[in-house]
Amino acid sequence: MTRTLDEIRRTPVGLLSEEEIAQLDPRGQAYARLFQARKAREAACPGHERVETATREQANRGWHRGECRLCGKDMTYDSGD
Ligand SMILES: [Zn+2]
Repeated sequence: MTRTLDEIRRTPVGLLSEEEIAQLDPRGQAYARLFQARKAREAACPGHERVETATREQANRGWHRGECRLCGKDMTYDSGD
């Protein structure tokens, strides 16, 4: 499957191949590298341990910001509404 450059720009970086990432502009490539590094870190995590990072005010509105203590994975959930 071959995507056009326009399609590559609109595709989430997690779905792009190395060849496709190489066609992005420098900012897009930098973002893709960060994304890949984060995914690799999350995948290497021995087991996510969620810690709450929401302020009291956010938690009161049902917005429970959180992340993994070990790898930093975003583990936010929203119990509002
Ligand atoms: Zn983790």
